Amino acid sequence: MFKAILINKDEHGYHAVLSDVDEQQLPAGDVTVNVLASTINYKDALAITGKAPVVRSFPMVPGIDLVGEVLQSDSARFNVGDKVLLNGFGVGERHWGGLAQKARLDSSWLISLPASLTPENAMAVGTAGYTAMLCVLALQKHGITPQHGEVLVTGANGGVGSYAVRILTKLGYQVVAATGRPDESAYLKKLGAVEILPRSQLSEPGKPLQKERWAAVVDCVGSHTLANACASTRYGGAVAACGLAQGMDFPSSVAPFILRGVTLYGIDSVMRPLADRVQAWQHLSEILSPEDFNAISQVISLDEVIDTASALLAGKIQGRIIVKM
Ligand code: NDP
Repeated sequence: MFKAILINKDEHGYHAVLSDVDEQQLPAGDVTVNVLASTINYKDALAITGKAPVVRSFPMVPGIDLVGEVLQSDSARFNVGDKVLLNGFGVGERHWGGLAQKARLDSSWLISLPASLTPENAMAVGTAGYTAMLCVLALQKHGITPQHGEVLVTGANGGVGSYAVRILTKLGYQVVAATGRPDESAYLKKLGAVEILPRSQLSEPGKPLQKERWAAVVDCVGSHTLANACASTRYGGAVAACGLAQGMDFPSSVAPFILRGVTLYGIDSVMRPLADRVQAWQHLSEILSPEDFNAISQVISLDEVIDTASALLAGKIQGRIIVKM
């Protein structure tokens, strides 16, 4: 038996509980791992609380991220004792995920844990930090350098936003952080933000073209915030859109794209090919240090997961949660 958060939808409704699960119930897969650490992302919180239809089959173990030690392997890529890292690929949505002491997985979803990261470091980063890195890599590939000017990060106190602020700062960019929690300015300044913008300056309907300010943007929020960010991006600049915390809508016009040559990059982390994941994690392990992980994350245990998921959706959690098994 092993412990897992188990989500069920039955005559009692939608509910998540910490349960003892029989190993026989583990799903099919060619690699079985002892989960060493996992985390709670926004999507995990939606799955656990049932606030959005993230879970596609029941019962489900949530947890889109995990670091595990291989217990059994039928894959030529991994041996017993290897430490492996997983982000996304529908795990925690369609296939049992990381918020459990054990997991059985498809080896094609796994990469090796970078040697310089501990399991806790990697889960302090998780999908949030890995997505932030994918956003930054898209902006760099576009040719945005620190000399081009200020970079806006929206939803800055969240997991993706915190990492975007930290990574960009460490790479030498001037970061302006937009947040609905201006009382948390000290945290954002510690991560490197040079200026804090109140969320309200971006979240209301705005003009299709506004004063040019941003060389680039990492947007975790969507909706009017993304529209206003595009409308105030400088000629030839780039916007990396990865989130929908304000909304899935995009009430914009084509003006920033056809009159200022602004490029909007859509960033998906879930189905990203392995080569991109390895590259992103290599950069993360080189750019970030243990001090960064400590500044951005807090550790909880499996029995605190359900309460913490509700707090995360209520916007009460700063940075990242590591779940240590
Ligand atoms: P968090 O909950 O940690 O952070 C979201 C942040 O968004 C909050 O901290 C808050 O920042 C801001 N926010 C929340 N509600 C609103 C609102 N109504 N209007 C404006 N801002 C708001 O989530 P994550 O950082 O983990 O994820 C951020 C977004 O990115 C989510 O939408 C998530 O689904 C998405 N995502 C997408 C991925 C992909 O592959 N594309 C991967 C990972 C995440 P503040 O308090 O600073 O205002």
